[in-house]
Amino acid sequence: MNVFALLANTARRHPEQGAVYRGTELALRYRELRTRAGALAGALRARWPAGERIVVASENCVEYVELLFGIWGAGAVAVPVNFKLHAKEMAQIVEDAGACCVFASPTLAPALEAALGAAPAVIVIGSRAYDELFAAAEELAPATAPEAPAWLFYTSGTTGRSKGAMLTHRNLMAATLAHLADVEPIEPGHSQVHAAPMSHGSGLYILPSISRGARQVVPASGGFDPAEFLALCSAHPGCGAFLAPTMVQRLRVEAERSGTRPTQLRSIVYGGGPMYVEELKRSLRVFGPVFAQIYGQGESPMTITSLGRHEHEQADEAVLASVGTARTGCEVAVVDADGRMLEPEEIGEVVVRGDVVMAGYWNNPQATAEALRDGWLFTGDMGAMDARGFLTLRDRSKDLIISGGSNIYPREVEEVLLRHPGVHEVCVVGQPDEQWGETVAAFVVAAAQNPPTEDELDRLCIESIARFKRPKAYRFVESLPKNSYGKVLKRELRERLAAGRDLP
Ligand code: AMP
Repeated sequence: MNVFALLANTARRHPEQGAVYRGTELALRYRELRTRAGALAGALRARWPAGERIVVASENCVEYVELLFGIWGAGAVAVPVNFKLHAKEMAQIVEDAGACCVFASPTLAPALEAALGAAPAVIVIGSRAYDELFAAAEELAPATAPEAPAWLFYTSGTTGRSKGAMLTHRNLMAATLAHLADVEPIEPGHSQVHAAPMSHGSGLYILPSISRGARQVVPASGGFDPAEFLALCSAHPGCGAFLAPTMVQRLRVEAERSGTRPTQLRSIVYGGGPMYVEELKRSLRVFGPVFAQIYGQGESPMTITSLGRHEHEQADEAVLASVGTARTGCEVAVVDADGRMLEPEEIGEVVVRGDVVMAGYWNNPQATAEALRDGWLFTGDMGAMDARGFLTLRDRSKDLIISGGSNIYPREVEEVLLRHPGVHEVCVVGQPDEQWGETVAAFVVAAAQNPPTEDELDRLCIESIARFKRPKAYRFVESLPKNSYGKVLKRELRERLAAGRDLP
């Protein structure tokens, strides 16, 4: 089973339907996309045997779609890398993957070629060498085992060196089916707007939307520009998108500022980091009931739990603060340090098993053995499940603050501080302390209006959480350090605090 079949089936059924758009301009119909991906598969097969790794280093672009399906059709393994990485970091991934070839965008290719040296070959997307690949005769891989890797998903590396999660054709198929079952129905002629990186969550959503005959819309900017995104969601029919929570917030701010309300916005699927309840409520007020949440990680792509659109319509705060319930095809549990299942409401590590869970880390048996135990993926996320199966994430185990022997989950304190209308963003971390081991420190980015005072924030905390959880120190900062996927780098904040270094 090869996920190329998802495209082949749709192209047979809807050949004239628009498949890929650059902004509002049609780039490829389904029959054209199918033909180009088949030709690329033939060209790649003529050069390399099945199972070779092929890197894609590019901003979001219309070619991304034909590249992924061409690589899969050839029986090769796609290695999409985050385009915001430094060329040296990309080169490390190319080397770690043992890639035979790199497809790079014209903007990224020169630095990447310099970082790589002589090998492997870099083919510039859109160049003559690139175009020549599409003259080949189609030759798909004769058979692909469901266990064959299809995508090496390099983790975002907030906890150290990035590792390549091996996602097989079966994993991708399981993620695709679970998306359609749990998150949103997609119809032919709907649109999937790729504003988040296609090397990550947005790229994974190419599969369910292609399988249903939807348009792939790549913003002309190649990324996320809130005003452009809002305009596209009025120009294309039935728009859906995957956005990180920080993008949802930027979109909401832009919609409020400009007064723009997209007329064709069907669904926003958010995940990849915590969505705070206050922000979710504000966004629901602006955009209406279009939101669904997913919780997943590269090792179980986009698929551990989800919170559906209808569940967002309930006023139940505990439900809104949760990441929802186990996905179709997944078993999800919370375990203690010895791997024993915990009772409802007890906090422990979240584990998941099912067809969506990765085969292991590429060339890294030790990391694989730590992450995959007895068939379960140990996610490194701490959480608790209620009796109905709603999972609430606390924090990654390493972000937990232990002060005077008591556990403090930063997220809980962050949720409270965000209730102040003058708080735009906040991040709570542990600060080393001789007496207590750690104390709570809060980094606060003030909103343009009503900047909060320490006293006001302190009072908010006293009203809602135990006194020992209150921040002992507040730092008002211009911005929070984030990685290229928009995740706050708590480690960096902790390091700066420990070193007594000032923040911007
Ligand atoms: P990545 O592998 O880069 O996608 O990162 C996955 C990690 O992001 C997870 O292990 C969680 O810590 C976090 N994450 C993903 N989805 C959510 C969510 N809906 N809410 C909170 N954290 C999330």
